[in-house]
Order: sequence, then structure tokens, then C-alpha cells
Amino acid sequence: MAPYILIVEDEPDIRELLNFTISRAGYDIVEAENAEDALKLLDRGAPELMIIDWMLPGMDGIDLAKQIRSDDIFSKLPIIMLTARGEEIDKLRSFEAGVDDYVTKPFSPKELTARIKALLRRTGQPENHELSVAGIKMDLTSHRLFVNDKEVAIGPTEFKLLELFMRHPNRAFDRSQLLDRVWGRSVYVEERTVDVHVLRLRKVLKPSGRDHIIETVRGLGYRLAS
Ligand code: CA
Repeated sequence: MAPYILIVEDEPDIRELLNFTISRAGYDIVEAENAEDALKLLDRGAPELMIIDWMLPGMDGIDLAKQIRSDDIFSKLPIIMLTARGEEIDKLRSFEAGVDDYVTKPFSPKELTARIKALLRRTGQPENHELSVAGIKMDLTSHRLFVNDKEVAIGPTEFKLLELFMRHPNRAFDRSQLLDRVWGRSVYVEERTVDVHVLRLRKVLKPSGRDHIIETVRGLGYRLAS
């Protein structure tokens, strides 16, 4: 999935306004109407930033933010909370839930865009949609991989796998975590499949001598050593 901003808002009018405002600023948008749908989308790949409405049917925005923060893969995912509530105590509650910024409805499109940009800068998310670790560079917009500045062909699953590793250098993932993040929780795939694709990924990196960067963590899974 290309880099995107995930909007979680139940009111169609506001969703449309958010979509219009944010896509004009040059970001791709994915929309969810409720927290449950948002969590399913997160399984398919992390967005660069999330905008969550506080008042949602079912699980509310605060509980959604807390649940996202409790998953260490998403512990640094930038989150802006959107709400009609403006009281100080509510702001404190949303910051306690791990929200990075807070925008009160009705919002000014210009202010929202400025806050998104500021937050992406602050949290170090690449605005040009590039990841770069140890001589390996991924262009997430065009889905291209460069190793030592030379373009290298890579399959879509290997690309997603490498992207996950590059986003979390030195972090060890077990096979089920890799399955969840790369293939999604709703898909049934055997854990052996992970090994097959890690082998393919190493093959992609081998000609440039970078295959050793994907390390096997004995008894656990894999990590990218930077
Ligand atoms: Ca709402």
C-alpha cells in the first residue's frame, strides 16, 4: 500500500471535507467510518499519520488511540484527534491516550494541513516518502528499491517485508508478527511462507552484498541489522 493518511470519522460530510482538504495538500487518503474498520486497515499496512474523530459509534476515538498505542509497532504512529469538544480536561484525556495533536471542530482546512505537516516533520516521517537505511533506499511512492544507488527489481511482497524492516531497524519480528503486518490478519498464510519470502528478499539484496542485513534471530524470526 502506498503511503497514506488514515481518516477515521463517522460523519460523511466531515469525512468528505477532510478528504478534500488533505488530498489537496498532496496526501493519499484512506477513510474508515469506525474504529473497527480502521483497525482492519492498519493490519494491511501502517499509514503515515492518522486523524481520528473522538465521537465514533462503537469504540470511540480515545479507546482506538489507546489500542493503537498499545501495539508497539504503532507506538510512534502520528495521531491527530479531531473533536467538537474543546475543554481543557478533554484535551488532557486525549494526550493521555497517546494522541500527538488535537484539532477542534469546526476546523480551518489551512490550520489542519499546517498541523499535519508540522506533526510529520516533528515525528520524522519522511515527507518525500523515502526510507533509507544502510545503503538501502526505498521510494514508497513509486515502489522502487535502490541499493548503493542502483535500482534493484523486487516483488511486491518482498517490498512490503523490506519496508516493515526498514521502518523498524534492529527490531526482531517473529513470524506471526510478520504475517500480520505484511499479509494482514484476515489472510490465512502458513508461517513457512514468511521464510520463503525472507529468502527471496535476501536473494534480491545478494548481488549488492546486502543480504546479510536481514538476520535470522534464532528461535524467534528475523530482523534488519543496521
Ligand atoms: Ca463523530
